[in-house]
Amino acid sequence: MRGLLSPAQNTVGAFILNWCTAVHLKINIFAWRTELDRIPTRQALFKRKVNINSVCCPLCSKNVESVEHLFTSCFYATMLWGYISTWCKIPPMYVFSVRDILKLREAILEDTKKRKAFEVIILVALWSIRKLRNKVVFGGKRVVLWRLYEERKCTSYSCSIVEHMET
Ligand SMILES: [Zn+2]
Repeated sequence: MRGLLSPAQNTVGAFILNWCTAVHLKINIFAWRTELDRIPTRQALFKRKVNINSVCCPLCSKNVESVEHLFTSCFYATMLWGYISTWCKIPPMYVFSVRDILKLREAILEDTKKRKAFEVIILVALWSIRKLRNKVVFGGKRVVLWRLYEERKCTSYSCSIVEHMET
């Protein structure tokens, strides 16, 4: 029993998220909470016995909305990561968890400046997925089309998803 509580055991699975100073603190905190699976997805709400109409992903309506689904395997997420890998000229991003996404910034680019820019892009992308999700859930809108800003429009904050919603 004592062995289970040793420091070595406690660090298993631990992931230290380095704060990115180029994005707002709330985006860092959001990424941290997302990696810990501490955001209120429909699956999480259902597990907490919150009365919700559906556990389906509000974006694609094809799977249970879990953190992994929303940010990695949802059609819209895969579309976004595909666009980002093309835009950043990196190999296709095969991610299965938010941790995989956050680790990409350390593994993909050796150039410090590029790595920092990439870090901003993925953090903002995570934030944008959540923002869109909330607009659909709380705004009662339906996703009609997603597209990403064209490269010329991209800045650290605007390298994001543009949602075209039905009004
Ligand atoms: Zn989905």
